[in-house]
Amino acid sequence: MFSLKNKSAIITGGGSGIGKAIATLFAKQGAIVHIIELNIDAAEETAAQSRKSGFAAYAYQADVSNQQQIADLIEKIGQVNILVNNAGIAHVGNVENTSEADFDRVFNVNVRGAYNMLHAVVPFMKANDGGVILNLASIASSVGITDRFAYSMSKGAIYSMSLSVARDYMADNIRCNTISPARVHTPFVDGFIAKNYPGKEAEIFEKLSKSQPIGRMGTPEEVAHLALYLCSDEASFITGNDYPIDGGFIKLNN
Ligand code: NAD
Repeated sequence: MFSLKNKSAIITGGGSGIGKAIATLFAKQGAIVHIIELNIDAAEETAAQSRKSGFAAYAYQADVSNQQQIADLIEKIGQVNILVNNAGIAHVGNVENTSEADFDRVFNVNVRGAYNMLHAVVPFMKANDGGVILNLASIASSVGITDRFAYSMSKGAIYSMSLSVARDYMADNIRCNTISPARVHTPFVDGFIAKNYPGKEAEIFEKLSKSQPIGRMGTPEEVAHLALYLCSDEASFITGNDYPIDGGFIKLNN
């Protein structure tokens, strides 16, 4: 079950956190993993760890927000059976204090980046009798989260662009779904706590942990297991859906 043997899987942002856990698990399940990362050292490290265990994983440096870079790279990789659009950045702020520069930055990575990947990969999947796409959305796609204006906008876009792709390419045997995590303990979370709440790191970490009714943050590995299921042939009846993985955040917070 859940074998990805000989499938070519592209994972963006696979040098850290959730993407790293997905790349590592997919390689273990037999996929030929291609990590597309800004941080090439981190991507190389993830890939090298998998290769050391006898699995196939390769790292490439590119910025998902750069359409030409992504087009050239996908051409070079050639075959794509699975795409996981995971690369993303965080931002804290409401509509009044979100600057245009920050809005553009979040949009360029989180929204344009996913678009660039889809734009480049879908033709290869069509030519290859189909494929599976998984996009990292967030609980912020469907629930109002305090002080996450630009970030929520970007994740709402991920959710709706996934529905569009799922609909448009159903006849081409391409499945497309989203995962919506609540807080997952990754460098992404540590980074934004350090940047936005200096001196109050422990207090904010505790608060963010408790915001999941289950009382803690998720782990990257828990998200990776859901990603594996959705990208495997066992999930062949699933498309156009969103899967919260949220410790009860959406339905049990009252
Ligand atoms: P992370 O910061 O640990 O890792 C993200 C990786 O993406 C980094 O290695 C970074 O170098 C890479 N990256 C950033 N910009 C890039 C670009 N322009 N081109 C290529 N690579 C780029 O993040 P994470 O916590 O693992 O989050 C992964 C995804 O999951 C994101 O899309 C995030 O929005 C989503 N998510 C995370 C959480 C959470 O609590 N951690 C919750 C919900 C959704």
